[in-house]
Amino acid sequence: MLQPTISDALAARRVLAGQLPPTPMWNYPALDATAGASVLVKHENVQPTGAFKVRGGLNLLASLGAEERRTGIVGYSTGNHAQSLAFAARRHGVPCVIVMPVDPNPCKADAVRALGAELIEAGADMGEAAEHARRLAEERGMRLVSAADEPALVAGVATAYLEMFEQAPDLEIVVVPVGGGSGAAAACLVAEALAPRCEVIAVQAAASPAAHDSWRAGRLLTRPNGTRAEGLATGAGFALTQQLMGPRLADFLLVDDDRIGEAQWVLMRDAHTLAEGAGAAGLAALLAHPERFAGRRVGVVCTGANASEHELRSRLRLAGPA
Ligand SMILES: *Cc1c(COP(=O)(O)O)cnc(C)c1O
Repeated sequence: MLQPTISDALAARRVLAGQLPPTPMWNYPALDATAGASVLVKHENVQPTGAFKVRGGLNLLASLGAEERRTGIVGYSTGNHAQSLAFAARRHGVPCVIVMPVDPNPCKADAVRALGAELIEAGADMGEAAEHARRLAEERGMRLVSAADEPALVAGVATAYLEMFEQAPDLEIVVVPVGGGSGAAAACLVAEALAPRCEVIAVQAAASPAAHDSWRAGRLLTRPNGTRAEGLATGAGFALTQQLMGPRLADFLLVDDDRIGEAQWVLMRDAHTLAEGAGAAGLAALLAHPERFAGRRVGVVCTGANASEHELRSRLRLAGPA
């Protein structure tokens, strides 16, 4: 598979110009005080689909040939990749089928249907959903879109990091939540070209450590997949993103789900920001490893906002009465 380059990221920016405005990146003194670092939050939670993945989806749809546009695409996802593909497919007038593991986050499932995609629930987890999607794509002659092994997705997602280093060229560390790894791979690609002294640090949920363990081992591994943070819930490493992260990533941290819940609450309190679990995982890494970040200028990507109602209610209960 061809690795995307910084030129592909720049080309993706031209594709996305006029479709998605740059997202803001803000500093919040209250959050700095809590984290003990100088934190800039990159607000991908304000994307029209509620997550950064729409950048990749729009870029991928723009890259399809005439035959693929006619027959359509099949994606598998716990939610945000699905919304991204459905959103982009609708923009481009391309048929779109999404396979989700049975009993998905209802807010994400409803959003996919509302965007006009055909939603199929199949499989107990992402691995089984992916297998179902693979068979379906073959049966219907549609283009299967991987959750991460897609150069056009990574190049599209890289536009977020082009923006970040323009908004704050002096970032010392960028912290990126990881599921399949498209975000962290894109961050590595852009940092290498534009901010070679900036460290990229990836974060995954301790209950779903496949990308983390794959990166540490230097080969693709399969791991249990138990996190509640859907965006981080993958059970296997992906070849393309692992290759891109390989030598470029400075570190890969794990955080547990309770810490992620705490970070969701801190983002609400200190940054007036609604994040889903995966979207708060970057901040969770700062809270879990304060010594690693103390006094540094850190870009934290708030990757998404698509928390279910149940998740929101339990976060607020967790915070308790003031
Ligand atoms: C998909 C997703 C992630 C993980 O991104 P990858 O590119 O799969 O590593 C993190 N946060 C949110 C909100 C997501 O939707």
